[in-house]
Amino acid sequence: MSAINNTAVFDVVIIGGGSGGISVASSLLKRQPDLRIAVVEPADHHFYQPGWTMVGGGIFTPESTRKPMADVMPKRVTWHQTKAERIDPKSEYVLLANGETLSYRRLIVAPGLVIDWTIISGLEETLGVNGVTSNYRYDLAPYTWSLVQSLKQGKALFTQPPMPIKCAGAPQKAMYLACDYWRKQGRLGQIKPAFCNAGEVLFGVKEYVPALQSYIERYGIETAFKHRLTAVDGTAKVALFDVAGESGSQIVERPFDMLHVVPPQKAPAFIAASGLGNAGGWLDLDAHTLQHVRYPNIFGLGDASGTANAKTAAAVRNQSPVVAHNVVASLNDQPLKAAYAGYGSCPLTVQRGKIVLAEFGYNGQLQPTFPKWLLNGTKPTRAAWVLKAKALPWVYWRLMLRGKEWLN
Ligand code: FAD
Repeated sequence: MSAINNTAVFDVVIIGGGSGGISVASSLLKRQPDLRIAVVEPADHHFYQPGWTMVGGGIFTPESTRKPMADVMPKRVTWHQTKAERIDPKSEYVLLANGETLSYRRLIVAPGLVIDWTIISGLEETLGVNGVTSNYRYDLAPYTWSLVQSLKQGKALFTQPPMPIKCAGAPQKAMYLACDYWRKQGRLGQIKPAFCNAGEVLFGVKEYVPALQSYIERYGIETAFKHRLTAVDGTAKVALFDVAGESGSQIVERPFDMLHVVPPQKAPAFIAASGLGNAGGWLDLDAHTLQHVRYPNIFGLGDASGTANAKTAAAVRNQSPVVAHNVVASLNDQPLKAAYAGYGSCPLTVQRGKIVLAEFGYNGQLQPTFPKWLLNGTKPTRAAWVLKAKALPWVYWRLMLRGKEWLN
């Protein structure tokens, strides 16, 4: 790993050093070790975000979900520790925030998505105090666990914004783990949990709904669909929801003692500003080759992509070898043969020790990794818990980020 300060030309420039950027850099080097690769990534640390649900449930420490970026960056890439500001897809260069420009033969766009904390009025100033928390931030997930432990009675609200969001099951996971703790402590009679969901269904793939519904009933959770959080008054402990009804929408106030918020999420603005976005501003990729639909020397993966898969690290685990394979083929003027089938996975932590393991591809088609006799994903199982709590963090840090392409 080295750093440079002038304009440079690379075989491959990768924007983002998160799950997608690091795993695809490693997968490329496994296939062609002499590639000149630049990774543009401003952050000092790399995060294993799937672990934040477990931090909020008191199972993982926050520190176990974070490593210095320098430790995960492949040694043979050039790391530019700054942001990509704009891409010029016609002239084939990336303009960086520090004023450098990087020319590329192939570009891989993997900057993740942007969580829009500011769109909910009053939220930012009350996060981390007044009982308001979110597992979607590294520094706040421990506060979720401290609130769960300290709450003895009252109203606990868990919100879910309109799709798309990363890990669509995560708003519910926080809720089930909290309810499981309160049930074991004998507090569920005094605590009233509610799931305030902007959507109209519990989960987008119907095969998993019966198992989740049984936990909604077990914990006595009130489900409030078509409820979109718009404002929070932390001091007064009141949340405001826009509730869609047949005769238009109305604002409904709900008092709370604990509020777990998942805010709306959007594509990074520079994608659309660089002419690479679809109608929603997400990276406009071919669903299978992961090549840009208008610029053949641009590819992408991860949460910034406009493909119709679940935005998860599990999706990235499957996308990364496809992108690496096709980028190498494209550099060598070969046809793109690798195809992504839309796999994504969401391990729903319905109680401590059991998980409903949703695994599905495009159009909600089930894509289980394991045979049913070993792990039936539509039922809560101990095997899926062991996978999430023990195996997957190891697979992530030791295999996926190092270009060892298991479990895909
Ligand atoms: P990220 O990993 O977010 O990385 C993006 C990187 O790009 C960051 O390092 C960022 O600093 C960098 N960047 C941003 N802008 C720029 C720029 N302009 N220039 C250069 N770099 C930039 N997935 C699962 O598979 N299973 C789960 O159980 C699961 N649970 C989750 C629970 C929570 C609470 C959260 C928040 C996520 C969860 N996920 C889960 C989702 C998973 O973490 C993401 O889908 C995955 O990290 C996406 O990878 P990515 O590379 O696209 O984005």
